[in-house]
Amino acid sequence: MADASTGGERTLAYLSTIPVSRVKNLTGKRATALASAGIETVVDLLFHVPRRYIDRSTSAAIADAPLGEEVTVVATVQKMTVRRVRRNLSIIEATLYDGETYLFATWFNQVFRSRQLPEGTEVALSGKIERQRGRLQMKSPDADVLDRPGESLVTGRVVPVHSTVKGVTPGHLRRGIHNAVTRSLPVADPVEEDVLDRLDLMDRSAAIESIHFPEKLEEVEPARNRLAFDELFRLEVALALQKRRQIDDAVGIAHPIATDGLLTDLVDGLPFPLTFAQERVISEVREDMARPHPMHRLLLGDVGAGKTVVAVAAMLTAVDGGHQGAVMAPTEVLAVQHFLSIGALLAGAGLAPPIEANGMGSLFSPPETERPVRLALLTGSNAEVNYRDSITRRELVDEIAAGEVDIVVGTHALIQEGLDFHRLGVAVVDEQHRFGVHQRVELREKGADAEPDLLIMTATPIPRTLSMTLYGDLDVSAIGRDEMPPGRPEVKTTALPKTPAAEQRWLKRIVEEAAAGHQTFVVCPLVEDSPKVEASSATAEWERLSRLLPDLRVGLLHGQMAPRDKAAVMASFRDQELDVLVATTVIEVGIDIPHSTVMVIEDADRFGLSQLHQLRGRLSRGVGPNYCYLVAEPTTTESEERLAAMVASDDGFVLAEEDLRIRGQGTVFGARQAGSADLRIADILRDTQLLIDARREAFALVAEDPELTDHPDLAQEVRALLGDAIAWLFVS
Ligand code: ADP
Ligand code: MG
Repeated sequence: MADASTGGERTLAYLSTIPVSRVKNLTGKRATALASAGIETVVDLLFHVPRRYIDRSTSAAIADAPLGEEVTVVATVQKMTVRRVRRNLSIIEATLYDGETYLFATWFNQVFRSRQLPEGTEVALSGKIERQRGRLQMKSPDADVLDRPGESLVTGRVVPVHSTVKGVTPGHLRRGIHNAVTRSLPVADPVEEDVLDRLDLMDRSAAIESIHFPEKLEEVEPARNRLAFDELFRLEVALALQKRRQIDDAVGIAHPIATDGLLTDLVDGLPFPLTFAQERVISEVREDMARPHPMHRLLLGDVGAGKTVVAVAAMLTAVDGGHQGAVMAPTEVLAVQHFLSIGALLAGAGLAPPIEANGMGSLFSPPETERPVRLALLTGSNAEVNYRDSITRRELVDEIAAGEVDIVVGTHALIQEGLDFHRLGVAVVDEQHRFGVHQRVELREKGADAEPDLLIMTATPIPRTLSMTLYGDLDVSAIGRDEMPPGRPEVKTTALPKTPAAEQRWLKRIVEEAAAGHQTFVVCPLVEDSPKVEASSATAEWERLSRLLPDLRVGLLHGQMAPRDKAAVMASFRDQELDVLVATTVIEVGIDIPHSTVMVIEDADRFGLSQLHQLRGRLSRGVGPNYCYLVAEPTTTESEERLAAMVASDDGFVLAEEDLRIRGQGTVFGARQAGSADLRIADILRDTQLLIDARREAFALVAEDPELTDHPDLAQEVRALLGDAIAWLFVS
């Protein structure tokens, strides 16, 4: 490793340019293997921290380990045999010795064990010891190789166990990491002394050393904290810089805030009083909108929290000042739903004529105010307005550009493709459960250089820590669980097996509820990547249920149907002309059916937790009690855990944390560019306080030094370690 350092210390930025292949023990094929596991540079190695540690000074001697309990013992392989008993059965048996006692370990068919554990290997075995025919035995234990015959790095009392990488033996990996650590230290530390003091964080170089090769186990936790803080701090610095840019570089619209404008009319005309949470969030939004900088706000609120009114309030604020508002929905079905419910809110308050509720075509009735609020729906296949009977797409596009329309509802795709607005004042993006896909919204405005305000709504209750990372560049408003509109009936959730008896149970419930004038959703299995198969299985289920429920009116809705047919089915379900709607997940978002009281989710184990929660959120819209049946034969622990979580709670925030716990944070970050692969040590569920601290320190620092001119080392480290994903941050 050549030296390129500041004051004798290597920077992480520099170390992130050195390939693993330059590290002794990890050259050639091993470097290739590591690269395919995502470990490409020395920095990657430094942050490939042990997944656990074996403390040899306290790990039990075989003779002392309690029988029948989970234990870890360290021993040396004395003999390894593989016996092929039958064509498809091999027994692998190892004889181990810890200097006092013999232990026999057996595995079935895991022939690789014979290569993993050749005679002379020192290994930590984890499992239960049993006495059988006078011998101490372990069946199918986990085995972590400590050392190979003839190699000996691991002499300390605490042995680090790294996640294995295919193609590299644990010994080589450990030795390679040891080399990398020794040659890299000391590393530069751009985090200021007083921050470290305030948060009681240890020295960075010592932390890197201690996390990999601790003398004592107690050293690990503070070391991990320090390195986790660094990751979170880098991420939050990047987010703070991004936020800063959005504020400083962008010119927004300072909307005038009328005290007796359209919003007042809306609120006066609502059939219910606003909840405190709605009032609070609306005033947060209006304060943002009054500022000359663009709003970038996230509204978090569970299904049914009453976000639609907030969205309409934001748009009416813009309309009051002579601007336009837009709502973007993730699906066509949801866009239609938004159009209808916003139309109903406006009509209810006498701000616009009503729209006929069939979703296709509108009735013109004379406006009750001097200036009715003009609302439009524009999607790939729909063009509709509330101020005229019919309109073509072309006409509508022109009228939006001419400023004759006040509020436009559409899908993400449509508006991102660059619809021309006359004076777009606020864009509301409804993400529903699709978190992680939050994108920069490209909204064009004719002849204006002011950026519209942006309100992102999500019904996915995101744990607070996650919103601070995933959406860390946004201001956050939240409607809490205890702040939901009153009077939502309870939903009783039951998990049922796929048996005829269980089916009788839910069929009976459907019939009983239908007799009371209530309606049922039957949600058909998700077919990954094949909407065609999904549609045909929904159709088959519709035929089957139509036969089983001859006295009920059963309808069908799936994604392959023509938009016109979808709208017609939805309309007849809404108008109670159907008792049962057999549907695919097209219903998962935003559908509001006041008389629905039953939902049957078939093959519920195939759905993700947040999707199940969204689906169930379609219930509890009016009458009650409500019933949700999760029909499944779960085949994995994960799917069992998901169903159990659904039965145990209907609190979206609880379920979101549970989801994060079950799936792990990596999968949650998914699509989001910045911050995804960057948390290798920090765990956002566990490191909540560290994240809050990192965020506070990062935002304070960026507030003082917005270009990081006084912190060049930090700037360099953030740029190097957060990678291309945030390269744009540094482009001026
Ligand atoms: P979200 O979009 O957050 O899922 P909605 O805005 O669709 O929720 O509201 C859910 C239901 O609650 C709707 O039927 C709506 O009319 C009703 N609602 C909204 N705000 C209130 C309120 N303050 N009091 C009573 N009901 C409300
Ligand atoms: Mg909604």
